[in-house]
Amino acid sequence: MNAIDTHKSDAPIFAADAFRLGDEEAALIDRARRFGARVLAPRAAKHDRDATFPIENFRDMHPEGLLAICIPKENGGLGASYRTYALAAAELGRYCGATALSWNMHVCSTLWTGALADDLEMSAAERTEHNTRRPAHYRRIVEQGAIYSQPFSEGGAAAAGAAAFGTEAKPVDGGFLVSGKKIFASLSGAADYYGILCTERAEGEAASRRNTLYLAVPAKADGVSVVGDWDPLGMRGTVSRTLLMKDVFVSESELLMPHGVYFRAATSWPHMFLTLSPTYMGLAQAAYDFTVAYLRGEAPGTPPVKRRMFPTKQIAVAEMRVMLEQTKALWFQAVSEARANPTKEQVLRAYAAQHTVMENANALAAKAIRSCGGQSMLKSLPLERIYRDSRCGSLMLPWTAEICLDRLGRETLYEPGEKDD
Ligand SMILES: Cc1cc2nc3c(=O)[nH]c(=O)nc-3n(C[C@H](O)[C@H](O)[C@H](O)COP(=O)(O)OP(=O)(O)OC[C@H]3O[C@@H](n4cnc5c(N)ncnc54)[C@H](O)[C@@H]3O)c2cc1C
Repeated sequence: MNAIDTHKSDAPIFAADAFRLGDEEAALIDRARRFGARVLAPRAAKHDRDATFPIENFRDMHPEGLLAICIPKENGGLGASYRTYALAAAELGRYCGATALSWNMHVCSTLWTGALADDLEMSAAERTEHNTRRPAHYRRIVEQGAIYSQPFSEGGAAAAGAAAFGTEAKPVDGGFLVSGKKIFASLSGAADYYGILCTERAEGEAASRRNTLYLAVPAKADGVSVVGDWDPLGMRGTVSRTLLMKDVFVSESELLMPHGVYFRAATSWPHMFLTLSPTYMGLAQAAYDFTVAYLRGEAPGTPPVKRRMFPTKQIAVAEMRVMLEQTKALWFQAVSEARANPTKEQVLRAYAAQHTVMENANALAAKAIRSCGGQSMLKSLPLERIYRDSRCGSLMLPWTAEICLDRLGRETLYEPGEKDD
């Protein structure tokens, strides 16, 4: 067992009073925090070492209601808002980055089809279609503990939003024939349904991003396979292998959004892509917490040697605290203002928040190792795992750290449609 993983008394990352959280919101986040400390932390090191998916964490989330956190209450879920989910996910990320990131993939299939879709413009017919279809997905999760994942990436320009997805869905009687390949399919081999993005394309039709379909492919369907090995630097427990689909028949009832609505969501609800960041907010906090405990000689499983009396350590902790507070403040603001049709300022702030969390989580972990010293990076302690896991954040499409900077610069200096002569 990982020594500090037994920690049971971490304070909430966002104190309810200070951040003016509602009672219900605070209680849900608290449930996630306690679950993370009690259930995720003791298992994290083993799954990291073996690069195995922590399926038992997801089984244990079911009775806690955490698989259904964003499913509307009328469908048997906990009805968490975008922000409540984000704060809860940050709490899980403190204890096991890989579980929190995988949980994000699952929860987004309910958040995007739930509260986010409720906020989107839809015609009356689309709304009826969506509200008729989604309860079946929710029932699987609420009643059977089904797990959904979100394999979008293909290794080309599609996951960055720059081209139509190469995975295609050919309309056939009663549904679609789906063929394609998804790389980095977190929860591969563990999910019951792969919530893929693909391009609906009839014979002779050109591929268009407007025809993106968000579709739940049953993992057991004929033509679905998972290939390749998985031995990465970090986030090893996500088991993000390659998903292949060859002429997989997927029923029309597996549509997670009506035709054309995903494209609308991606363009009018951009904060949907900020949902990969909560995990890394949690990792940033974990790096800081570890450092404070270690320098005080209180990190469980380490000798009670204090290092806090050295001015260099005090300065390091002070700098970490400044970086952590900056990260928390910006990120909290961004997740609080997520909505349909945000202002340009809000979108730019979301890019800045994503960039800040993803880069600072790893910067904090690096500084933690430098300040705590050699013994702190032994594999018997969680810090080196936090360091490796946090390295992955800035690579996550569509909002990689580079793409955030790219858009921030361009969209600040150019209004839509503006060109230089
Ligand atoms: C641990 C882990 C888990 C993951 N899980 C999932 C998952 O569950 N589902 C999923 O869909 N994906 C997942 N991903 C994949 C991830 O979102 C990216 O798709 C993947 O890291 C891209 O790798 P690549 O080498 O193909 O990047 P490339 O596409 O080669 O891009 C390399 C870099 O170039 C830049 N770049 C790329 N496109 C553009 C552009 N159009 N404009 C400007 N700059 C650009 C970006 O900064 C990017 O980081 C996961 C990744 C990791 C590391």
